[in-house]
Amino acid sequence: MAERKVRVRFAPSPTGALHIGGVRTALYNYLFARQHGGDLIFRIEDTDSNRFVPGAEEYILESFKWLGIHFDEGVSFGGEHGPYRQSERRDIYKKYVRQLLDTGKAYVAFDTPEELDAKRGEIANFQYDASTRGMMRNSLTMPKEEVEAWIAGGKQYVVRFKIEPNEDIRIDDLIRGEVVINSSILDDKVLYKSADELPTYHLANIVDDHLMEVTHVIRGEEWLPSAPLHVLLYRAFGWADTMPAFAHLPLLLKPEGNGKLSKRDGDRLGFPVFPLEWHDPKTGEVSSGYRESGYLPEAVINFLALLGWNPGNDQELMSMAELVQLFDLRRCSKSGAKFDYKKGIWFNHQYIQQKPDEEIAELFLPILKEHGVEAPFEKVVAVVGMMKGRVSFVKELWETCSFFFAAPERYDEKTVKKRWKEDSAQHMTELAEVLAGIDDFSIEGQEKVVMDWIATKGYHTGNIMNAFRLTLVGEGKGPHMFDISWVLGKEETLARMKRAVEVLK
Ligand code: GLU
Repeated sequence: MAERKVRVRFAPSPTGALHIGGVRTALYNYLFARQHGGDLIFRIEDTDSNRFVPGAEEYILESFKWLGIHFDEGVSFGGEHGPYRQSERRDIYKKYVRQLLDTGKAYVAFDTPEELDAKRGEIANFQYDASTRGMMRNSLTMPKEEVEAWIAGGKQYVVRFKIEPNEDIRIDDLIRGEVVINSSILDDKVLYKSADELPTYHLANIVDDHLMEVTHVIRGEEWLPSAPLHVLLYRAFGWADTMPAFAHLPLLLKPEGNGKLSKRDGDRLGFPVFPLEWHDPKTGEVSSGYRESGYLPEAVINFLALLGWNPGNDQELMSMAELVQLFDLRRCSKSGAKFDYKKGIWFNHQYIQQKPDEEIAELFLPILKEHGVEAPFEKVVAVVGMMKGRVSFVKELWETCSFFFAAPERYDEKTVKKRWKEDSAQHMTELAEVLAGIDDFSIEGQEKVVMDWIATKGYHTGNIMNAFRLTLVGEGKGPHMFDISWVLGKEETLARMKRAVEVLK
């Protein structure tokens, strides 16, 4: 068999916001595709109209755009294997349902929900399978003419997959190794419903993976129980030779590690479980997103990449390009990955440090504006450069450095008590004169002159600097004093000192 081009897909159902676990699944598919020079397909699995949520598809697309995960073909991207929305592929599926019926791999069943319920009451642990299908109302128990007449008469039916019992089905999972499941535990799954003329997830998923020439199915662990059924479907269609390889990714677990990560964990501990903010169209509920919470997309990508995979050493910071190089399904873990959201915050801090100050300044501008501050861009860049080491989110910059942009409105009482001495007003008046006389108001320029002045006068450096800080900042925090006065400039520095002396005198 010729080597096939790697083709993988991300195939969400548009049932709401994309969970962060789904984002990780898409990311791993993306990394795998890029690494192998393959294609990544975006397919929408919307055959369950009851669960369709308007806006979900757009939301998912916008999420990937923000995160920098690009698709090669699919809904909104185009391609030769379309349409990529399953609700637009009805006719294609019908042909394949027909094939299974004609070859005796599937059968028509008319049992109503009430009849099924009745059987469940009659037989303990009822399952529609080889042991019970002979008692049900289906094309295996009814005369052919009657079946045809019922269908012609418009009776609703489903098509069920006829699973042969007692067969060990083997799946060679790229992450889990060999998984064996006996076919007797499977039920005759519904593959198609006449009511909406649509296939169920299982049939559509297999037919599309085949027609779209998918080579690897990389998806969440929750789909592992469906895999044996999928293997049987490939065989029933005669596609066993080109069946994709499976890789079922480990679950994302609660930060404490016990049980599956849920939205409630996010609400409880204050972290988002969605990439973007989500407005539920039915309930009106708004859920926070990584983007709106101030995470950088690079940080989210790096954080997610390491939830269930590692590069084999303790390297943690990796760009998308590096991840493409290093990613390896064989290094994915079988056991669940704890969702250590604090690590996500750490990554955000790291990426803020890595990014050029200009870029962070751009992100800080709207926050400044919200606070009514319009400052020259170079000043914002300088402040960001001095202060970004102290924050994990750009929005925290305001808390940390608002004093650069707005003069203190009051002077922190505790600091005044501790730092403003009897002679501070006098010292600050003198210092203001010294500063006024400096032509080179650079950090070094000020430092030299001021330190000389302190030495000549025999003043106490700490006392002078503490009082100086109080006049400019209004409290005891901030970076080096001359960094602050340099950014403020001579005029603003002197104005703040003058005011502080007046108020605190
Ligand atoms: N539509 C399924 C989902 O929502 C796809 C599962 C698969 O990848 O086979 O995750």
